[in-house]
Amino acid sequence: MNAPLRLDETFNEVDDRLVGLMEALFHPTGVAGVYGRRGAYEDVVERLAAFISGHREEDTEVMRFPPVMSRRTLERSGYLKSFPNLLGCMCALGGTERDIRSAVSRFETGGDWTEGLEAGDLVLTPAACYPVYPIAARRGALPAGGLRFDVASDCFRREPSPHADRFQSFRMREYVCIGSPADVAAFRERWIVKARGMAERLGLPYQVEVANDPFFGKVGLMMAEMQRHDALKFELVVPVRTPEKPTACMSFNNHKDHFGEVWGLRDATGGVAHTGCVAFGMDRLAVAMFAIHGTDTAGWPTAVRDALRF
Ligand code: 5GP
Ligand code: ZN
Repeated sequence: MNAPLRLDETFNEVDDRLVGLMEALFHPTGVAGVYGRRGAYEDVVERLAAFISGHREEDTEVMRFPPVMSRRTLERSGYLKSFPNLLGCMCALGGTERDIRSAVSRFETGGDWTEGLEAGDLVLTPAACYPVYPIAARRGALPAGGLRFDVASDCFRREPSPHADRFQSFRMREYVCIGSPADVAAFRERWIVKARGMAERLGLPYQVEVANDPFFGKVGLMMAEMQRHDALKFELVVPVRTPEKPTACMSFNNHKDHFGEVWGLRDATGGVAHTGCVAFGMDRLAVAMFAIHGTDTAGWPTAVRDALRF
């Protein structure tokens, strides 16, 4: 299912009409979905980040996380039940100096050094909000109205693809709400409205649709069906590659009591807390901007340039 897909040092294997776009924005690294970024692209990512910060609600606490997180935290979060195929785990050479030397000499004689790897206690963060729930839980019962966080991290999902809208390593920014069921429902409604306005200011054609996460396996199909049925996930999609298969650039998620149960989060009335998040795919948003408005930012519509403070 996840056979390694390798690109050569060009974008020739990248899909269809977006090869030119990829060349304008990225440096190939030899691995599908892992790219070096050019200056003009990174400038837009930074401007988008500032644009998103400009929409932050009051009383939102800012936290930034590294690209790795505690394996134990992610295990407890239930990630292995839902997306075991996407998870990356940090591993390193272990054992004695002799063990490590012998792995290296295997490599030097054309053998496989990776046989000596041991799983570490870190995984590659698959979504920016996972680390925030145990941190919030350590603070005890939530205040009335709940808590809001602004989080971000580099994220990894093992799904190599030649497409311009699916990376293995990408940046995610999120606003998170932890509170009563009503706090979280209202938070998500507010953000769907705000996000529509943001997409309009960015000049992006979009739709907001009911969506599901790509839960693993046959059981996953049922989980996805339930998620759609209960409208627990919406996505703001933009026609980046084709109008028929638009790309999710933002998602609006209601996790109900899942993280509340896992981490013992209590709302102000003593009930199990609900959680929700709005996630901005920074790389998808930036790619969408270039795909829709062109590779020359000087030629972008004035209103869009104003929104991004060019
Ligand atoms: P979710 O947790 O809803 O799957 O992801 C949140 C957001 O991260 C998505 O709406 C999307 O913008 C971004 N994202 C998810 N997967 C990928 C990916 O494979 N590549 C890129 N560039 N962004 C992604
Ligand atoms: Zn999230």
